[in-house]
Amino acid sequence: MTLDELWQAVLGEIELSLSKANFITWFKNTAIVDLSKEELVLSVPNIFAKEWLEKKYQKIILNSVRKHYPKINQISCVVGNNNSISTTKTLDSVVTSPRLQKQPFVGEKRSAATALRANLLHSNLNPRYSFESFVVGSNNELAFAACQAVAKNPGKSYNPLFLYGGVGLGKTHLLQSTGNSILQSFPKHRVKYISMERFANELIEAMQNSRAKEFKEEYVQLDTLIIDDIQFLAGKEKTQEEFFHVFETLYQHGKQIILSSDRPPKSIPTLEDRLRSRFEGGMMADINKPDLETRIAIINKKLAEKGFSLNEEVISYLAENIYHNVRELEGALNKIIATYQLSREPLSSAQIIEEVQDIVSTNRSKSTTPQQIIKAVANFFEVNSDEITGRCRKKQIIRPRQLAIFLIREETNLSFPEIGSLLGGRDHSTIIHAYEKIKEELTDNKLLENDLRSIKEKIVEY
Ligand code: ADP
Ligand code: MG
Repeated sequence: MTLDELWQAVLGEIELSLSKANFITWFKNTAIVDLSKEELVLSVPNIFAKEWLEKKYQKIILNSVRKHYPKINQISCVVGNNNSISTTKTLDSVVTSPRLQKQPFVGEKRSAATALRANLLHSNLNPRYSFESFVVGSNNELAFAACQAVAKNPGKSYNPLFLYGGVGLGKTHLLQSTGNSILQSFPKHRVKYISMERFANELIEAMQNSRAKEFKEEYVQLDTLIIDDIQFLAGKEKTQEEFFHVFETLYQHGKQIILSSDRPPKSIPTLEDRLRSRFEGGMMADINKPDLETRIAIINKKLAEKGFSLNEEVISYLAENIYHNVRELEGALNKIIATYQLSREPLSSAQIIEEVQDIVSTNRSKSTTPQQIIKAVANFFEVNSDEITGRCRKKQIIRPRQLAIFLIREETNLSFPEIGSLLGGRDHSTIIHAYEKIKEELTDNKLLENDLRSIKEKIVEY
């Protein structure tokens, strides 16, 4: 057995007991570089992998290696690739001092500037949000393009514009940027941004003071109305009714309406049909979770904005481990920067990782549950969840079960054996087989890809 064959065998075994994400994070680009009587030396791509493999995974690697070489009792790692191994033990300093930049002064024509300021004040918009500071990836490109189109031609391109997607994925950022961009291009345009929660509260207060009419009048005079988080309308009949009238009036007059929600209109419970069909009648754009590449781009953008830099290893650690939510990613950066500002000392990679552990672990625990996935798949195929987890071997159940297995492996932290026991005590080899089958099919089956996308969209609802 060559060293490579040995490592492949060990990896094959370890993969079974870890989640896919963990396996890839820690074992990607590893190899055996030396095997002595008692020690196995691995080459690993970075310092984190070294720390984790030596501390956390020492045991499981040892267990597996000993099946082939029983005398081995130590695993150590060196950072570097197989060709150029460097045994650097020192941790790089990774935070450099902030480079604060002053905003250059921009001269403006007075009248436009005054109108803009007054309008900005009434608009409720926060000027910190802009299109320029938004990172576009495949997860949000449609929403971004739609917002830009609306900003160029309010009331004339897409109306209403309806953005939906999970928390912390940039809906408010896009809504606010659109409003700001409209004001920049059309300083006299009356824009108002408000969350549906505040809209509803102000409406109730106005009604209590018999001022409902004035309240609505203020809204129907707008040129652009932006309402954030309209899922808050669920179950609020009176607010829905009043909002409908505002919506209709603005819409009839060709005024722009921009809305956001954490889910598509059809999934907002007790939303009046007439509102639902109005929302669906415009442009709907979803925002999904950013992929790794986009997360890295977001981190880099935020660092540049804040005038900080981090080394690449830390950036990839953050991007690989905080994946649900951009707000949390930003929270992690802020925490690192605050720690640096308090101590004024360069932080090592290890210290930084330590610093963000709580954010990383809440991020993990927020993961989609396998139950949500099973329900979403069952619903999509119109079968029962029990049938998917049960022993039934009918064709119409086998397929949904395979998709459920695939999605659970992709979307959660479960290992193959864990998925097996969840799905009626099946053997892990059966689970791996199903997973591989779907993965293989996905390479040239567009229909399957679409089905999976639709199911994934539904997962949040369960
Ligand atoms: P949502 O309204 O969908 O819950 P937010 O718009 O409040 O999310 O976004 C949360 C944070 O993440 C904000 O600070 C926002 O600037 C940032 N953010 C989200 N997506 C992006 C992106 N694509 N590029 C840059 N910043 C982003
Ligand atoms: Mg928001």
